[in-house]
Amino acid sequence: MNENQLREHIATLGKSLYDRGLAHGSAGNISAKLPDGWLMTPTNSCMGRLDPARISKLDTEGRLVSGDKPSKETFLHVCMYRERASCGAVVHLHSAHAVAVSCLDGINADDVFPPITAYAVMQVGKLALVPYYPPGDETLAEAVRKVAGKHYAVLLANHGPVVAGSSLDAAVNAIEELEQTAKLYLLLQGQPTRLLTPGQVAELNRRFAS
Ligand SMILES: [Zn+2]
Repeated sequence: MNENQLREHIATLGKSLYDRGLAHGSAGNISAKLPDGWLMTPTNSCMGRLDPARISKLDTEGRLVSGDKPSKETFLHVCMYRERASCGAVVHLHSAHAVAVSCLDGINADDVFPPITAYAVMQVGKLALVPYYPPGDETLAEAVRKVAGKHYAVLLANHGPVVAGSSLDAAVNAIEELEQTAKLYLLLQGQPTRLLTPGQVAELNRRFAS
C-alpha cells in the first residue's frame, strides 16, 4: 500500500470504527508506518470524518512533516513503534467496554483477561494494564514504553486500549477483538464461567503463535 492508499485506508477504518460506536467525538487515534516515518490522525479530529489529505505526516523522530498538527496522544504510538520493530500500525480507542474494564479494581496487570474465548487468546494475547496517569503525562509514556516490548496490546487504566499490529488491518482487528472480549468479560461478571484450560491455551499458542 502506498502513502495515498494508506491515508484513504486510515479514513475508511476510522469511519467504520466511529459508525459502530467504537470511537466518539474526537476520541481515538490511528497511526501507520511509512518507509520514512508515520501517518498519524490529527489532534481534535473526529475518526468518522477524517480528511485523508490532512492526516499528519511525521518523520522517524516524530516531528511533523506535513498535514495538520498530530494527536496529543502521538507519544503512545511512538512508544509502540520504538519498542516493537515489526509494528506497522497502532490504534488507540476510548471504546466503552474496554474502558469499563480498565476501571475495575483487582485486575491482573500482566494479563487482564482470563481465557474466555480462543479468539481473545489468539488476537489479544496477554493484555497489560498500565497504571493511570493524566493523558499526555511524560510518566505515562515511560510506563507504556516499559510494557510495549512484551505486549502488543496495552490497556491504560481509566482511559482505554492501545494496540499495535503488523498492518493497519491487523491492529484494527485486534482492538475490535479486545473490545468484544471486554464486553464478554463484563457480561460474565458474577456468572459461574467455564474458562479455557491452561492446556487449551497452550495448544492455541502452539498452533497460532505469530
Ligand atoms: Zn486516549
